[in-house]
Amino acid sequence: MTAPVSNIGNDQTIRLADVRKSYGDYDVLKGIDATVARGEVVVICGPSGSGKSTLIRTVNRLEEINSGSIFFEGQDVHAPMSGRDLNRLRSRIGFVFQSFNLFPHLSAVDNVAMSPIRVKGVPAAEAREKALKLLDRVGLREKAESYPAQLSGGQQQRVAIARALAMEPPVMLFDEPTSALDPEMVGEVLSVMKSLAAEGMTMMCVTHEMGFARDVADRIWFIDGGQIIETATPEDFFKNPKHPRAQRFLADLR
Ligand code: ADP
Ligand code: MG
Repeated sequence: MTAPVSNIGNDQTIRLADVRKSYGDYDVLKGIDATVARGEVVVICGPSGSGKSTLIRTVNRLEEINSGSIFFEGQDVHAPMSGRDLNRLRSRIGFVFQSFNLFPHLSAVDNVAMSPIRVKGVPAAEAREKALKLLDRVGLREKAESYPAQLSGGQQQRVAIARALAMEPPVMLFDEPTSALDPEMVGEVLSVMKSLAAEGMTMMCVTHEMGFARDVADRIWFIDGGQIIETATPEDFFKNPKHPRAQRFLADLR
């Protein structure tokens, strides 16, 4: 079923082929084969320690892999490349962390404007103007001059999403973006993600928010023990999970 490496389908934004990774003699990813189509929203779920973060981090090469390959828009992500080329690649793959990771010494607007200025050479005034628009889009226009410490967790995470969007990435990756938030702030972040999905953004989201998965995902990947053991539409996954481990995972959530 795996297409030959030279045959790079245009509608496949991301393709993982037999991706393996270990830490010492511990195999974290045991042969991941998967594709993400343009505009598709994939939700990755599975038990803690199953390899979800490792998997998503290999896609923009925050983690190296031991074997296999990952293609992003036809480019071999794990091929030898200069630091400059790697930065350029990463700037096209937005990544949102559980822990926000904003620059504490920069205001919200400067956090958002920084990469376009530094990496793309966009003039500062233009970058700030666009940053304000992005902050508006995530509902934080009035917090533009606030510093991360002055913002709630939900607000910081929305700034982090705006910051990733500032590079106009064709793909956004999310690693448990709401897990560090107080419950009352989860909704505001999910609703920004939902609107991105509605606008056609290609997304890979690791999340335990099964309501989001049900409403927004095109496909669910259930991962356990370093393998994707089930992929399904949300409808099938929630109504009729096939693998016993997926059944148990869903039962434990209830
Ligand atoms: P998940 O995100 O699904 O909870 P992770 O991808 O973070 O899982 O981790 C998968 C497994 O790999 C876990 O057993 C974890 O302890 C291990 N692991 C993750 N990062 C490292 C690391 N840097 N060194 C050693 N083991 C690691
Ligand atoms: Mg994780």
